Amino acid sequence: MYNKLILVLNCGSSSLKFAIIDSNSNIVYINGIAECLYTKESKLLLQDQKSKIKKINLNENASHSEALRVFINFIINKKKKMYHNIYAIGHRVVHGGEKLKKSVIIDENVIKDIEDAIHFAPTHNPAHLIGIRESFKIFPKLLNKNVAVFDTSFYKDLKEKSYLYAIPYYLYKKYGIRRYGAHGISHFYVTRKASKILNIKVEKINLISCHLGNGSSISAIKQGKCIDTSMGMTPLEGLIMGTRSGDIDPSIIFYLNEVLNISLSNIKKMITEQSGLLGLTEYTNDCRYIENNYDNKLECKRAIDIYCYRLIKYIGAYSILMNGKLDAIIFTGGIGENSSKIREISIKKLSTLGFKLDQDKNLRIKNKAWGIITTKNSKPVIVIPTKEELIIAQDTAKLIDNHKEF
Ligand code: ADP
Repeated sequence: MYNKLILVLNCGSSSLKFAIIDSNSNIVYINGIAECLYTKESKLLLQDQKSKIKKINLNENASHSEALRVFINFIINKKKKMYHNIYAIGHRVVHGGEKLKKSVIIDENVIKDIEDAIHFAPTHNPAHLIGIRESFKIFPKLLNKNVAVFDTSFYKDLKEKSYLYAIPYYLYKKYGIRRYGAHGISHFYVTRKASKILNIKVEKINLISCHLGNGSSISAIKQGKCIDTSMGMTPLEGLIMGTRSGDIDPSIIFYLNEVLNISLSNIKKMITEQSGLLGLTEYTNDCRYIENNYDNKLECKRAIDIYCYRLIKYIGAYSILMNGKLDAIIFTGGIGENSSKIREISIKKLSTLGFKLDQDKNLRIKNKAWGIITTKNSKPVIVIPTKEELIIAQDTAKLIDNHKEF
């Protein structure tokens, strides 16, 4: 019954998402997430085609490796046929640095290049490398069938004017300090989906794509190619995120260090793990809670209002780059797909750009369905559930099927 299956792995800093996908039909047979890794609450949640969710407790402080092994053992024991039909593994990799600009079959040289890009994605690339090394061990027969699919690939067409920072030029030439972008696989997927929904060819479509999750980024897409994006050299710049600050004045770092005597490592922790929605509310980065308490808790209102303000500033700026030919705005990611409040507040501020919210439609979008949430006389805002795993599976299958072994 099973055809050629791809195991897709997405190792985040404290989570591991996985899926087993038929590369021809795009059927997702099983997917899941191991979350709260390295904490007491670590657990594994699996969902099969019938949408039944199964919870498997992991040992306290379970690591990525342990979570992956528990998942694979589950497949071996309960879904033997599925296990035997896995013929390649696709790994999401956030940062390919200056060298890795498109999906590639992983060998030791590729691993070295992913390692070299660790300082550009310090919380992500090390986790991806654990997933890659562990896959090599668990699937020795598939050693030459691991593919890396990079978030940064979507940004390969950025021009100097959007990727260069106004700092001494040799820092780019010598050390590769520039904007690289992130969430590229998601922005790539929603671009193609929007092209189908709007019946506009990918090469012609002009979009502003908002990927709003724990990590958030926004991309300006002109004629199907990304021309600017909010994330920078690392996934810290740009929009307000769950725990990351996004844009701040770099002098804040000097002040914290020189005047308040906070060490650089603690400042790094502060702006990556204690800021964003968590910093603004002072106790949570869970957007569900913040949204539900928008009307009765001042700190929740503050966090969401500032979040939306930053978002619409970027949308305004990117709309200028479209020469008046913006086709649609896309909302995706855990927050973009689910937070009707954040969509409502943001879209209501975009009437001068021709966007008019249909609040009924906005409230009705549910259950991982796509939908247009603007009125008939408005330019469309489309909510599109992202499916990064499909792009990873497709790229993996393409590379493995074309790769001839001698
Ligand atoms: P990641 O960047 O880790 O992949 P996700 O894309 O899964 O993150 O998004 C996680 C965020 O989505 C969290 O802030 C969570 O609170 C938010 N979220 C999930 N479901 C809802 C919901 N129903 N309403 C509002 N926010 C939601």
